[in-house]
Amino acid sequence: MDHAEFRIKAKEMVDYIADYLENIRDRRVYPGVQPGYLHKLLPKEAPINSEKWDNIFKDVEEHIMPGLVHWQSPHMHAYFPALTSYPSIMGDMLSSALNVLCFTWASSPAGTELETIAMNWLGKLLGLPDCFLNEKNESPGGGVIQTTASEATLVSLLAARTRALMELAQLNPDVQSAELLGHLICYCSDQAHSSVEKAGLIGLVRMRYIESDENQSMRGAQLEEAILSDKAKGLVPFWVCATLGTTGSVAFDNLREIGEVCERHAAWLHVDAAYAGSAFVCPEFRNWLNGVELADSFAFNPSKWLMVNFDCTAMWVKDSTALHRTFNVNPIYLRHENSGKAIDYMLGSEKANVKKSIVQTQIEDKTQASKQYDIKLNGDSGNNSGDDPYDEDGLHGYNKISPGCGNKIQLENPDKKEMLHWQIPLSRRFRALKLWFVLRNYGVVGLQKHIRESVRLAQKFEALVLADQRFEIPQSRNLGMVAFRLKGDNTLTERLLKRLNAKGYIHAVPACFKGVYVIRFTVTSQRTTNQDILDDWNEIKTVAKEILLEVFG
Ligand code: PLP
Repeated sequence: MDHAEFRIKAKEMVDYIADYLENIRDRRVYPGVQPGYLHKLLPKEAPINSEKWDNIFKDVEEHIMPGLVHWQSPHMHAYFPALTSYPSIMGDMLSSALNVLCFTWASSPAGTELETIAMNWLGKLLGLPDCFLNEKNESPGGGVIQTTASEATLVSLLAARTRALMELAQLNPDVQSAELLGHLICYCSDQAHSSVEKAGLIGLVRMRYIESDENQSMRGAQLEEAILSDKAKGLVPFWVCATLGTTGSVAFDNLREIGEVCERHAAWLHVDAAYAGSAFVCPEFRNWLNGVELADSFAFNPSKWLMVNFDCTAMWVKDSTALHRTFNVNPIYLRHENSGKAIDYMLGSEKANVKKSIVQTQIEDKTQASKQYDIKLNGDSGNNSGDDPYDEDGLHGYNKISPGCGNKIQLENPDKKEMLHWQIPLSRRFRALKLWFVLRNYGVVGLQKHIRESVRLAQKFEALVLADQRFEIPQSRNLGMVAFRLKGDNTLTERLLKRLNAKGYIHAVPACFKGVYVIRFTVTSQRTTNQDILDDWNEIKTVAKEILLEVFG
């Protein structure tokens, strides 16, 4: 394809995209194909010679489209939204064409700086405390765009693990790191996403699941009880993941209670707000953020509900040097003459120098240092009574970074020129472009309107369900998701969901709350109308009637 052909075919592609999105309501949302269908339709080998574009593209409509789930459809209610929008598509188009890699500032200065600016805008839009922002490159906090919430969780866990291992190694210089690792333990609720469990598996650390309360929320008291019991066994609690908006029921862990527990026990607190984070652009939903200043890292997916197409996970950390310690490599080919004057998302800033190190004094003073984890590895579980002779300043031995940001440990050495690493891969796409386009093209008012409309439509659906005696909503609705079921045995709802998906007019997935099977109905499209909700409800009622007739006659 040359320039001339690209000009023509790409314009046709734009029309195809606009037609697709404009008329998406007419497509069956869930495909009716069987596994292996595409293998039967496409050749087994790549073509030897170049094929004409029109030939290639013909196969898209004929073979590919029938095998897709149409995530942008108003009748898509499965999972969480994965929305795109025109400004986002434009951002991705341009980013794909430029194909710049933004790992260091020098590899693409505008790419790096736009990411910092867009992440600061977004952080402010959510109402995050200043300590998570990176303004004028002066604070150790800042935002970075990761690919997925799973990756953000893993990065956070690894950073916390490194911090804990470094401290333990200082206290126990003769103990092998593998043995130290065996003492680490982290926590999340029994409702946390499977990616949290996966992060623990990759990080080779034990994970303890805290039983959530009747609202599926992890509470501080249960967490602290577990931490104290683990400490008594000689374990070292080092990381806690709180979820704001659980996958099953959009439940919210109690961030303030959990944050206070983490602070008491020097554990890193990560907040996974993958879906619900978008809602915080609206001030009326920010009550769930109460206590966020106690977190060390916070992540959500603008690629879910905020209409920035996949992939785009916004992650903020309070102390980016913690990430650096975890991913510290510094090959000569990645250094550049402006290292230290700007952020390098893969590496490179000297801003760590501005901060005062406390680790050296802690290490010199072993009694203070051991208090950080209240543990020595000989099984002495330390003193958790709070009755502490060293606690005169009320800081529990932690340095204060800035007012309103909690009291957190800092470990960096001020004499070393730190190279900061924010992620696992080296190469990174210019994702900030699509985020920046969306923030500007919608504006704060447009984004708030979009979130509020989704919530309003979910409320409408909720009211329809509640008005029908045959159905129930076991967990109260939060934000844009309603988890409902047919009253009675789980098998009724299972059959209902199976048949709805087989018909393909709407698509939803299940969840299970303490043995109770439900259908999750998420409002996923910015194009959903009142009529769409009514149509979907009619479809659900029709299929439910069939099933109830079959079962009860
Ligand atoms: N955390 C929560 C609460 C989620 O609901 C999800 C996915 O829906 C994830 C994490 C994983 O997100 P990702 O696909 O971006 O890794």
